[in-house]
Amino acid sequence: MAKVYNWQIKRDMSYPYEGKYPERQFASVFNINRCIACQTCTMACKSTWSFSKGQELMWWNNVETKPYGGYPHFWDIKLLKLLQTAHDSQEKSMTWNDEDKYDGMTIFEAAEKQKTKNGQSRVLGYLPEDKEWTKPNIGEDAPPQTNLKKDKMGYVSEPVRLPEHKSFFFYLQRLCNHCSYPACLAACPRKAIYKRDEDGVVLIDQERCRGYRKCVEACPYKKAMYNGQTKISEKCIACYPRLEGKDNHITPDGVSVETRCMSSCVGKIRLQGLVKMDKEGLWSEDEENPLYWLVHKEKVALPLYPQFGTEPNIFYIPPRWAPRSYLTQMFGPGVEKAIDRYTAPSRELMAILQLFRAQREVIYKYQIKKGPKIYEKEVTLADGSKKGLMIYNDTIIGYNEEGKECVRTTVEEPMYERPATHFNSI
Ligand code: SF4
Ligand code: SF4
Repeated sequence: MAKVYNWQIKRDMSYPYEGKYPERQFASVFNINRCIACQTCTMACKSTWSFSKGQELMWWNNVETKPYGGYPHFWDIKLLKLLQTAHDSQEKSMTWNDEDKYDGMTIFEAAEKQKTKNGQSRVLGYLPEDKEWTKPNIGEDAPPQTNLKKDKMGYVSEPVRLPEHKSFFFYLQRLCNHCSYPACLAACPRKAIYKRDEDGVVLIDQERCRGYRKCVEACPYKKAMYNGQTKISEKCIACYPRLEGKDNHITPDGVSVETRCMSSCVGKIRLQGLVKMDKEGLWSEDEENPLYWLVHKEKVALPLYPQFGTEPNIFYIPPRWAPRSYLTQMFGPGVEKAIDRYTAPSRELMAILQLFRAQREVIYKYQIKKGPKIYEKEVTLADGSKKGLMIYNDTIIGYNEEGKECVRTTVEEPMYERPATHFNSI
């Protein structure tokens, strides 16, 4: 195996191929705190890409309820258990050190240690059974058992409160992460999977694929899927015709537009972009790009299960009310700080949050024009300390691929009063 640098686990790791990085990388930030699980994104994707015969149980985008929900069923619990068993057999632990470096094994390293006799296993994974794909929304809105105090009548006698609820659930929005080190690509014996140089989108060549399902087995997020009708595998294509901006019907201005799931998001939780990459596979410094700012400057958005080692490119602002230990297992060691930063957002963060789903064109650059202070409050952080929160009615402007303004909005939503002449005029 080759050695590649994975910035999310802060160290070199083994990967079956040498690192090869695109000029720009498809990436996105999802704000879990805002999702209402309306599934508009899910249906936008389904009705665009996976409505044909053989795709009935395929949901390239799904929104599941954590901790009990999962599509396919218990995908993350199953892989965490496999990874734990691999660590136990090596007497290692899946831990992060004080510098936030991952000391455990990734799914590539665990497979290397556990090589089968014929040396075929490149990625630690499992193949879900057919029945595990059948219910995309199992466990919806089911919180784990609560240990809240109850009165004699059985009613909860103390209210849940922020910053952490004893009883909780949250919605996790999932699609292919278009990983920098894709497990699906690493596992394919036909070399039918490739990552595009221009945008880092990971695709399965439908002509080369023979349906061995190695990608389905290897993808830790279970976002490569098998079509029993065509007998080949399929996955999210990041709506690449929209990213390319070449379809006159979808993109009359000839610039990149966001994918279907992003541009249909009712809860305004998603912001998608194409970030600049350098030759070493790191994000080039680009503070004018809102995604760069959220992920690398403010560090308020974190990758999903970074310990798996694929360097996923979808990042999440963690939910404020869920137990930190559960979130740390899911998003890595940056959770506490990310939640604190979101709880008392900086002036810049507050402005950037207004860009989420405010337009359909991909934003390459943003600019903030300062406005007056409109609110001031002291907020309590998770450790009980207090922080001052000040909100300014700043204007934020987004620019598209060609540097043209594509969105302009303010922190405070404008209010229009209905003229008296139209009062009750329905
Ligand atoms: S999420 Fe899975 S299918 Fe998508 S690129 Fe990563 S490994 Fe491949
Ligand atoms: S459309 Fe947005 S708010 Fe609705 S389920 Fe999807 S991510 Fe959540």
